[in-house]
Amino acid sequence: MQRRDTPDPSADLVLRGGTVHTLDEDDTTGTAIAIRHGRVLRVGSDAEVTASIGRRTRVIELDGRAVIPGINDSHLHATWLGAMWPETVFGAAGAAVSGSTGDAGGDSAPAAPESADSDPHDTSRSAPLVTTRAERRAAILRAGELIASLGITSYTEPGIGPGEDAGATGCFAQDVFDAYVELEAERLLTARVNVLALFGVLDGPSTLHEVTAGLRSLERETTRPAWLRVAGVKLFADGIPPMHQAWTRHRYPDGTSGGLLVAGLDADERADNLRRMILEANRLGYQVGIHATGDRTIDTAVSAVEDAMRDSRMELRHYIIHGDLVTPGALSRMAALGMGLNVQPGIAVATASWLAAVLGDEVAASAWPIAAATRAGVSVSLSSDAPILAPDWRQGIADAAAWLGAPASGHEAEVDRMRAMLRGYTVAPARQDGADPWKGTLEPRKVADFCVLETDPLHVPAAELPAVGVDLTVVDGELVYERLPTYSR
Ligand SMILES: [Zn+2]
Repeated sequence: MQRRDTPDPSADLVLRGGTVHTLDEDDTTGTAIAIRHGRVLRVGSDAEVTASIGRRTRVIELDGRAVIPGINDSHLHATWLGAMWPETVFGAAGAAVSGSTGDAGGDSAPAAPESADSDPHDTSRSAPLVTTRAERRAAILRAGELIASLGITSYTEPGIGPGEDAGATGCFAQDVFDAYVELEAERLLTARVNVLALFGVLDGPSTLHEVTAGLRSLERETTRPAWLRVAGVKLFADGIPPMHQAWTRHRYPDGTSGGLLVAGLDADERADNLRRMILEANRLGYQVGIHATGDRTIDTAVSAVEDAMRDSRMELRHYIIHGDLVTPGALSRMAALGMGLNVQPGIAVATASWLAAVLGDEVAASAWPIAAATRAGVSVSLSSDAPILAPDWRQGIADAAAWLGAPASGHEAEVDRMRAMLRGYTVAPARQDGADPWKGTLEPRKVADFCVLETDPLHVPAAELPAVGVDLTVVDGELVYERLPTYSR
């Protein structure tokens, strides 16, 4: 980093004596970082940053530890997570094939395998997890505490709204959003939250009317959008392949090919209704996060975004969530449109065999093409979909590495890949949030959202990353988690 001629005003917080990975475009690193007024003041050598230390500066000695930008888990159902933890859907339901709430499909989709209907841990068939205002607040705060301890400083709540007001869990209803507004006003959130509104049922059907009417009456303004922001809308386009619900050109063993969850009289009308939902959201300036797993679903969604953006200059960062069967053709169209892909590596690892069981080994081997997407120029965000999985990005990276297989050659390739995967949890989701100008990397003037890891992640094999402890989490320049007492003065 370059020296300045005039001394900086003193920092509020300095961390020095370690490795600071900015994850900026040039892979800049330093040994120290200075923070002032919740922003990164500078990253550089200890000597450079020590110049920013004044009488009131808190100094934390890293002792060789590493600083990385705060983790952005860009698909995390925090309220549901807080209500369930330490249970997770995969943890609790074991190998049972289960959609997010288990009630996937409704009457618009093919029948689910029997195993899903007999899943004893299916949350949709037991009492709601949260029912009162106090419980909603507690669930959000509990998730907040958990994710702060994992270094997470931003997340997207993918689906909260009136579509789930009568929902089985209580975790996605409109009053959950009200709880977020309250907690933000009380300054009790410890991570920045993006919300996707939901006008249909989670993992279930939606109608064109409820989505367009909902979008037109959506209250989008929040007091401090850097902390709580209504980004756009979540659309459930189709279900998941193991339950024969992904709409695909392939055939399931029973001869079916799935279909869209969006209501309509036939396949064409369903596709047209999905297209119109996307057009309307785009016209109103809302981002669309499309839950889409089947190749036909993804192609339909991408075509709709293409139509929507033909006469729109807005960069709304529409994206595909899951994207199991996305094709190379769709990936290059997505890249051209600036569409992102939001993938959960842990789901790929955990369910590839279920996919193989219904569509064959070849389809499973080419599913969730993280590497091809990146090569095609698609911004790939990695996420947990917690509480489907635990919200542990370290495990997510280990799973992504396992899914990708051994890197081309040697240590340098491994380092590059680790850096790319870290960007999948920081830079790419900041772009998804439309927040790349002010978060996602540790460049001067960007928000001071970061975490301290006990070991430099670039020098740890991906499989061993889950054992690397998170020592400290800082959001907006404030400590929100501290594992051990740090050397401080
Ligand atoms: Zn989800």
